[in-house]
Amino acid sequence: MNAPLTQQSVLHSTTDLKEFAARLQLEAEGEVLFDRGSRGRYATDASIYQIEPLGVLIPKSIDDVRAALSLCRQFNIPLLARGAGTSQCGQTVGAALVIDNSKYLNAISDLDLDAMTVAVEPGTVLDHLNAWLKPHGVWFPVDVSTAAQCTLGGMAGNNSCGSRSIAYGNMVHNVHSIDALLSDGTEAVFCDERHMQSQGPRITQILKGLHTIAEREQEQLQLQVPSVMRRVGGYNLDIFHPQSERPYSADGSVNLAHLLVGSEGTLAYSKKITLKLAPLPANKTLGVVNFPSFYQAMDLTRHIVKLTPCAVELVDRTMIDLARSNPAFRPVIDKAIIGEPEAILLVEFAGESKAEQLGKLAELVELMGDLGLPGSVVEMSDAAAQKSLWEVRKAGLNIMMSMRGDGKPVSFIEDCAVPLEHLAEYTSKLTEVFQKHGTRGTWYAHASVGTLHVRPILDMRAGGAEKMRAIAQEAAELVRQYKGAFSGEHGDGLVRSEWVSWQFGPRLTKAFEDIKDLFDPDGLMNPGKIVRCSKMDDKSLFRFAPGYKTIAFMPALDWSAWNVSNDPATDTTTAPGTGGDPTHGFSKAVEMCNNNGHCRKFDAGTMCPSYRITRDEQHLTRGRANTLRLALSGQLGPDAFTSDEMRETMDLCVSCKGCKRDCPTGVDMAKMKVEFLYQWQRKHGLKFKDRLIATLPHWAPWAARIPFLFNLRDTIPGVAALTERYLGFSAKRALPKWRSDTFLKHADTTDAETADVVLFADTFNNYFESENARAAYKVLQAAGYQVHIAKPLANDATPKRPLCCGRTFLAAGMVDEAKKEARRVVEALQPFVSRGIPVVGLEPSCLLSLRDEFLVMDLGDDAQRLASNAFLFEEFLAREEVTARLKPKLGPLPEKRALLHGHCHQKAFDAVRPIQQVLALIPELKTELIESSCCGMAGSFGYDASHYDASMKMAELSLLPAIRKAEPGTLLIADGTSCRHQIADGLAHDTVNNRALHVACVLERALIS
Ligand SMILES: Cc1cc2nc3c(=O)[nH]c(=O)nc-3n(C[C@H](O)[C@H](O)[C@H](O)COP(=O)(O)OP(=O)(O)OC[C@H]3O[C@@H](n4cnc5c(N)ncnc54)[C@H](O)[C@@H]3O)c2cc1C
Ligand code: SF4
Ligand code: SF4
Repeated sequence: MNAPLTQQSVLHSTTDLKEFAARLQLEAEGEVLFDRGSRGRYATDASIYQIEPLGVLIPKSIDDVRAALSLCRQFNIPLLARGAGTSQCGQTVGAALVIDNSKYLNAISDLDLDAMTVAVEPGTVLDHLNAWLKPHGVWFPVDVSTAAQCTLGGMAGNNSCGSRSIAYGNMVHNVHSIDALLSDGTEAVFCDERHMQSQGPRITQILKGLHTIAEREQEQLQLQVPSVMRRVGGYNLDIFHPQSERPYSADGSVNLAHLLVGSEGTLAYSKKITLKLAPLPANKTLGVVNFPSFYQAMDLTRHIVKLTPCAVELVDRTMIDLARSNPAFRPVIDKAIIGEPEAILLVEFAGESKAEQLGKLAELVELMGDLGLPGSVVEMSDAAAQKSLWEVRKAGLNIMMSMRGDGKPVSFIEDCAVPLEHLAEYTSKLTEVFQKHGTRGTWYAHASVGTLHVRPILDMRAGGAEKMRAIAQEAAELVRQYKGAFSGEHGDGLVRSEWVSWQFGPRLTKAFEDIKDLFDPDGLMNPGKIVRCSKMDDKSLFRFAPGYKTIAFMPALDWSAWNVSNDPATDTTTAPGTGGDPTHGFSKAVEMCNNNGHCRKFDAGTMCPSYRITRDEQHLTRGRANTLRLALSGQLGPDAFTSDEMRETMDLCVSCKGCKRDCPTGVDMAKMKVEFLYQWQRKHGLKFKDRLIATLPHWAPWAARIPFLFNLRDTIPGVAALTERYLGFSAKRALPKWRSDTFLKHADTTDAETADVVLFADTFNNYFESENARAAYKVLQAAGYQVHIAKPLANDATPKRPLCCGRTFLAAGMVDEAKKEARRVVEALQPFVSRGIPVVGLEPSCLLSLRDEFLVMDLGDDAQRLASNAFLFEEFLAREEVTARLKPKLGPLPEKRALLHGHCHQKAFDAVRPIQQVLALIPELKTELIESSCCGMAGSFGYDASHYDASMKMAELSLLPAIRKAEPGTLLIADGTSCRHQIADGLAHDTVNNRALHVACVLERALIS
């Protein structure tokens, strides 16, 4: 037997590794990734650590895992199973072969509604499972916050817990059995012990060994294991002598699957997990209790839980203020609060009977009165209002995570659990600990089970490690004093494994080592976690390890807003540009990614289309941010930032800005791509095709004079194929048609002096789809406006060339040219903006640049003023006073139904709702919003031959299927020019309507003449 591996003892020669990788490539069907970039992308999770794996396998089947494990044994290489990698404690980082289950191992099977069980492969995502189960009226109720991305394998690995754990228990209470693969190749079903007797000598030996250890340590288990339900540290040896307030199984039987749950992949690999299901609650009712002090909220929770709610969640003052400062959330939170509470508790009752829940709600009101807080409960029985409030709670946490500067909320005592009677004292003493160490924390989460999430703000590059240990030690003292659990939700990993011996004492720690050796004598399974671990403050394992520094360069865009320092004690941030970043804020913006994995979600929202079609970590916002960070800090070798590998990683990013909106920390990869492309093209130059597209606004006036010539590519057979071959334009697509009747050529315009609105006609709506601009002009006039059409200043260098937002230049990384275009626009519109005259545009990606990229191009205060005064056509019309003028002018259309696809940038700027609002002005028209991500065309992305397949896959995710399902005679509405083209191309061979209209054209048709 080899000496058990620890995290530090894994050293392999390059030759061994090469041979290992080659054998793996031969024997596994899945993807074998040993390149530096891939290893870098799997070196982190949502913890503070970073350890480069030896390689990565993305198995296509369990046979691949078997083959990998067999090779791992031969080469003495550890194996680390991974789901979404959202662990907060470093469970999924290690010098091992990482097995990423999330791409292919996601089959759901064996649904048994009588037994209320279902089986899943380990890579199945919780939200996918619940969506699959919904039609059957059941769900898997361990509702963790990362439900949209976390996998069942990872949830079992960590013994995850949801916000409704008081009603449903933790993962361990909801796992029926696990089909597991041991490091020596043994396979067995770990389940109720009574059914495990006939699984061969190896399993018999393990069972016998476990019983011996459990009997030996019975007294220690009674002495050392906290009785709180939220305890996920160490191994669940107490399945043999249960200690928790909630039993592992209803009938007191021993289930060996429960020992594997929470073992963080250190004992066995889970091939298949059979889960227990619960009926979907038919109704939910919410009571929001308002507290004058945080202490009272904590102190009175113990009384509230006696009413058997299924969740009691805390929102503190900081979160309330954050939510109220956001115009979208303010009305929602305002409905939940009474006066100026210091904290609120969201108390949810759920189940079949609404009447019963309303009864409970009444009891809550009465209880709060008895406890001295009469009139403190806001009663919410309406499902939509409840949903909105839960959304606000989620978003509040996101805002906290988006803190700029090197001080970040760090997760290491985030989930200590204490009995409810001590909750108030524990939280106030911990607050004192934070103050003593010059920091503060923001509180949120699961009051019902005594697990309050708190992250002190620490700078892990400067003094953070020392403070982390000091705070952890003092928090631990408090946890001991109150007989709580140090690890109450997130597991042990690298940050808390050393606390296992503190929590359970030396005898149980030794017992855990014995368990590890029984299952995994060679220490191949995720070594260094739970037992035989490193120190939490081993800085060599930090993501920002000592000596971390980035290369220096001057970015093209202004990133100074990220280049700041923050002081958690005073809650202050220094002025933009003062953070000392050698890349002037770009690196710090990249480092905002904390690896929480939310970009892997598949639910509503845009982020991240390239991941949705590939399921590759490389083509994910997180993968891109990690690759950028590693490249900028020299960890991928010299010149990695402008390398081919980096370009490949950015290639499928369609710049949809989905991440700008949906990423909890505000990682804006579209903007980062512009910066990257700028640096890239400075070093490598631009391809002719990219330059041709970028400079389109410059040569468009010529094309409009002789359109037939420029349209030859799509009229003479064979020319399209030649343009694919020599330029890279996909021959499968027609290019937009040039025409001579451009909008600006024939447009009427009101004099600048008398105008009360300015219409900005972008390149696309001027040259290719001039009917949209004409329609917009007509609708604005019908609403009673004097419309001036934006044009360059008389002293402009090219006064005859129309204004342009510079988007095509940005898309190619030609930032200097984009700045020139932007400056023309700012200067031309300044006289109107200074008089408060609104500027209205039609193409979302163009108009919204005025509110986004223009602000980071050093264009001064005029750009800022323009941004506040620039509106999309529908945003302008949705304003109350405009709506009132327009509504009487609109009559019914022949079509009674419409399907609406929002442009990604509209979604990113919350500008889809205004389209729905203005369409609602058309009598009898019913509009349905397509839940779509990016259409896949994304400017010129989809025209590129090398992107054609990716582009169509994006369109086929939901957009095109939704249109195919539409009833005949349904209007299609899409404001983006590329979206309209994608719909036309994607449905060209279907018999359905493939002609989508800009909302301006729809409104024009509805005008009563
Ligand atoms: C913002 C945020 C919020 C969170 N909220 C919650 C919450 O509400 N409740 C909660 O409990 N946790 C929470 N977490 C932690 C984490 O998301 C959960 O623990 C989640 O269930 C982990 O799933 P995953 O797929 O990411 O697993 P990973 O992190 O990939 O893996 C988790 C563990 O399981 C092991 N593992 C994975 N697959 C297998 C397999 N096939 N066989 C054996 N072992 C395996 C891994 O080795 C690792 O030790 C949160 C994390 C973040 C970043
Ligand atoms: S990019 Fe954003 S959503 Fe994705 S992992 Fe990073 S922080 Fe999370
Ligand atoms: S901009 Fe869009 S495609 Fe690019 S990383 Fe963000 S979400 Fe993904």
